[in-house]
Amino acid sequence: MELETLKGLGKSLSAKLEKGGIHSVEALLLHLPKSYEDRRVISKIASVQAGQKALIEGVIQGVNVTPFGKKHLSCFFADDTGGCQMHLFRFYPNQVSLLKNGAKIRCYGEIIKQNTSANIIELIHPEWQIINQQNASLKKGITPVYPSIDGISSHVIYKFITQLKDYLFSEYIPDTVLKHFNLISINHAIQTIHFPPNKTLNEIFDLSHKARYRLALEEILAHHLNAKIARDKMTVGDYVPFEINLKEHKEFLAGLSFTPTKAQMRVIDEIFTDFSAKKPISRLIQGDVGSGKTLIAAACLIQASLNNFQSIIMAPTEILAEQHYHNLKNWLEAFDIPVIFVAQKLTKKARETALDEIQQNPNCVVVGTHAVFQESMHYPNLALVIIDEQHRFGVEQRLALIEKAKSKDYSPHQIVMTATPIPRTLAMTVYGDLDLSVIDELPPNRKPIKTSVLSENKKATLIQKLEAHVEKGGQAYWVCPLIESSEVLTRLQDVSSLYERVKNALPNVRIGLIHGAMKATEKALVMADFKAHKLDVLVATTVIEVGVDVPNANIMIIDNAERLGLSQLHQLRGRVGRGHKESNCILLYQAPLSVTARKRLELMRQTQDGFVIAEEDLKLRGPGDIFGKNQTGDIHFKVADLSMHQSLFNDVTEIASVLVKDHPESVGAIIERWLKNADQYIKA
Ligand code: ADP
Ligand code: MG
Repeated sequence: MELETLKGLGKSLSAKLEKGGIHSVEALLLHLPKSYEDRRVISKIASVQAGQKALIEGVIQGVNVTPFGKKHLSCFFADDTGGCQMHLFRFYPNQVSLLKNGAKIRCYGEIIKQNTSANIIELIHPEWQIINQQNASLKKGITPVYPSIDGISSHVIYKFITQLKDYLFSEYIPDTVLKHFNLISINHAIQTIHFPPNKTLNEIFDLSHKARYRLALEEILAHHLNAKIARDKMTVGDYVPFEINLKEHKEFLAGLSFTPTKAQMRVIDEIFTDFSAKKPISRLIQGDVGSGKTLIAAACLIQASLNNFQSIIMAPTEILAEQHYHNLKNWLEAFDIPVIFVAQKLTKKARETALDEIQQNPNCVVVGTHAVFQESMHYPNLALVIIDEQHRFGVEQRLALIEKAKSKDYSPHQIVMTATPIPRTLAMTVYGDLDLSVIDELPPNRKPIKTSVLSENKKATLIQKLEAHVEKGGQAYWVCPLIESSEVLTRLQDVSSLYERVKNALPNVRIGLIHGAMKATEKALVMADFKAHKLDVLVATTVIEVGVDVPNANIMIIDNAERLGLSQLHQLRGRVGRGHKESNCILLYQAPLSVTARKRLELMRQTQDGFVIAEEDLKLRGPGDIFGKNQTGDIHFKVADLSMHQSLFNDVTEIASVLVKDHPESVGAIIERWLKNADQYIKA
């Protein structure tokens, strides 16, 4: 069955579904409700409370439409206990013609109490329906509430879902396995979730309900199988063990301007043990922002080079790649290791030179952006690939990178570094293709970052304080987040107008502007100026999110903080607190704040622990919204809720083994059902 066959699904809605990642009927059915509304009872008007959502019914006694100006329709109806004034500000002429005196109307919406003594209430833009009409959407019963899809409302999504009541999924988990693990069938699960029987209200609200559990399990299973296949593909062929050159390693550590933390030493040890083992390594290094991952990378790159192999370290942005290039050049110089920079921004000629150097230096370290694995690049002797801030690179890209080295008939070692805190169980299951090392310690003598939450209307005062800070030689970031790609243009205006505003208010302060639409070379110049303290304040979009290191910058101001995910706020805040001075992070919000938003910002104020933040983030959000789009990037769950569905990880590993062994035909099918359009999808 095709999406196009759904009634009411025109071109524009179908484009929106597409944009929201819904490409098929099955994908639509896997878009699960985030909650349910109890519409089993029609309430009497006199009995409803302000703020409550209720289903009410009455007879229309008067309708008023503004003749001109702003559109406004008001309709008054009453039951035998009171009256209700309904207001609409968007409506069509054919809707107006339905609202006639004497007609029976049913509404569902949030009650605004207007006049308690007279039992008059108010509803603004409720869902409504004239009762003698055929219309399934305002039926009595338990009604699912769906997360909107690119602006398509729950109400409309539900209209489509109801048309799919008889759709049947193929069952890919064999009966014996379902029985053994006490799982219900996929169709039973889908039916229960979208069309819950009226008596199950309390159960269905529960995220651990067996219907949701069944789907969550299959989703995690899909990720796990995908990772298994990825691992098989990545570890084919021979391996090259590295001999560990301890003398040079010790020299390297001794030459640092600081003492490595215990955690850094342990992780380096774990990798070095891998290096001498009899298989290509794939390891995920997880360490909070500022935990010192670059140092670990450097130690590994040195060993690759001393073993006479080439290595690559790849960063997600040019700014970061360049920063790595400078750091590594400094550190690796002592060992005569050639360090070569490759990025999109290089001129054709410079890139050719880089390519030449790579051919001539069998032990070089290549630092760059994804440009390092463009078609034209060749590495005759590659044996180690380090990918920094992994969430920008899916499994698929890593596979492509591995392909680059295949000419040699062995797989290079792979190390992936990320600051995204991923609970261990999840990492093991979903990133099953990687071993895991955790840097669970920050370097000592880091001053904690003081975080405050401020309403946006305090901006003027804040700007004055900023001036004082700069006069004392401090530097600051001011981030104006770029929220969604569709908002790029308006947001660019935002960041530019903020820039103008601060510039005008503080004529003596040197202010820089950096955003995603600038050329890489321009960005790099601004960044370099900021790093060299030729600029005092850097107004930026979230392009500075990952990894940028300017120790003297110790104030981070974030505009519209309520609209960013906690993990992202944590990443941004991690840009400061890197030097010896006390640091501040100021989260500006636009009032009014929802209860959840307030809790989230409050949490940011209270803790600086990335894991706590990630876990609380899970709890504070509903299912289906676990990792918002740009949150954990690499993994996006449709159904699974990690805080609720912890217990299924063990089952997933067991079921995966059974399927791989006895039902290999199910493996590809399950992966395809859940991951087909995800960037980590691997064709089985
Ligand atoms: P990450 O990539 O994990 O966010 P970086 O590698 O960029 O962190 O390190 C952040 C800063 O901390 C750098 O300036 C780095 O030189 C410094 N650093 C790293 N390890 C230590 C340590 N053990 N003690 C003190 N400073 C350190
Ligand atoms: Mg880093």
